[in-house]
Amino acid sequence: MSLRPEQVRLFLENTEPLKWSRNNRLPLYLWPIMDLEVDDEAEAESIIQQFNERGIGLISTWDPSDRERTLNRGLEIARIQMELGLRVNVNANPCTYSFCNGDLRTAHIGEDGEPFFDLSFGKAHKMGCPFALDFRRPEMQQQVEFFVQAYYEADLEIGFIFADWEIDGPIEWNGAWAASRRCQRCQDQIEDIHDFTAFQSALRQKRSALQREMLADTIISCFPDALVGNYGVYPHDGHRYWYDYFEEFVDGVPYEQEGGAKYRQWFDEFPLTGYTSAMPVVYTWDKIWRWYDFDQVDYRWFYNMLKVGSNAGKSTSSEIPIVTFVHWHTVYTDDNNLGIQQFSENMYQELLWHLLLRGHDTFFMWCPLDQATQEARLVHQVYAASLEYKDFLESGIPINFDVPSLPGPVVSGLRLGDHLLLRRTDFDDTRSDVTLTIDGLSVGVPRVFGKCMMKLL
Ligand SMILES: [Zn+2]
Repeated sequence: MSLRPEQVRLFLENTEPLKWSRNNRLPLYLWPIMDLEVDDEAEAESIIQQFNERGIGLISTWDPSDRERTLNRGLEIARIQMELGLRVNVNANPCTYSFCNGDLRTAHIGEDGEPFFDLSFGKAHKMGCPFALDFRRPEMQQQVEFFVQAYYEADLEIGFIFADWEIDGPIEWNGAWAASRRCQRCQDQIEDIHDFTAFQSALRQKRSALQREMLADTIISCFPDALVGNYGVYPHDGHRYWYDYFEEFVDGVPYEQEGGAKYRQWFDEFPLTGYTSAMPVVYTWDKIWRWYDFDQVDYRWFYNMLKVGSNAGKSTSSEIPIVTFVHWHTVYTDDNNLGIQQFSENMYQELLWHLLLRGHDTFFMWCPLDQATQEARLVHQVYAASLEYKDFLESGIPINFDVPSLPGPVVSGLRLGDHLLLRRTDFDDTRSDVTLTIDGLSVGVPRVFGKCMMKLL
């Protein structure tokens, strides 16, 4: 994939230069703003500069299957970014595939001694045995290290690097538990394999160790200040309130039921990965629509997505930046999509504001190219406007993580000394103030739509 000059023009036309300066705030990341393809260095510099005037960071991808070309292009962009005093941003995803490369040595072993793969994540994914992957570790680590070393030797400091490592390595969902219970090696490794919590814990520990060695340790050893993260890996309260497109609920696992939703128990993996940036995923998955029956239909989306975002916000320490994957167009994952009503634009933008006021630091908008201008415009407007309050966003402390279980007023806020930055979004006719108690003091939050409020405590 690459970003051509005609696409660049489209993004520049659909976003405005920032009115308030960004200072130390992280840039906004947009999935399509990746891998700029221009021959001329001056043109590349001008484009990077114009994106920066809009607060948008350009990302370069490392691809071990196209090593020399992607390295050279990455180094050239990084050089320009360093000269302009900007963060160097990297997509390391192609370096993270695959531990489960189909090699028979990665397979589970049945009771009959025959090797087998778990194909429940799609026929294209030969998911192997979590305990047979160790021999893959040096090769996987070296795929990343090659690029890291080249940047290090060129004196180019990596500022932000992420992966979207998903269907590979140990994952406990779909048919994985059943496969492991049939595998001699897995049975030997996990004492109580019939207890899902024991199984999940063993797999996530393994998965975290693989990520730590391949990504976090490799990068941090050369660039101690780099933000390193992976899609969907973030601190949480013990539950996951969303499903990825390839994940299915598994009978017999612990969960919490609400409406049609089964919130799965999740292992506390983040501390074991060594990541320095949290990357929650706040998407309009189609399933969300069917989980809840609120007549106020926007609240079906808003409720779940704020629950996901608040989970990350309340569970992540302030030293770890939260770079949140966001998406607005309904994400269709199955054919059962009759009657789904698209989340409205303005309530999606309200949601983004509430995430910022609950400790999220910036957004990473993912979308296919045909949705890109609309997706970019929605998230960029909120990002740009939020910089008016950058002091609050930088140093303020979130005061509220409540997510009302029925449509009504939703309040989020940041406290900086005696000052409060508040936002209220209403999903019913409540006219009265919402009262929050902060340090024993009552604060009334009036109904105001589409604006932040400042108050003295
Ligand atoms: Zn196994």
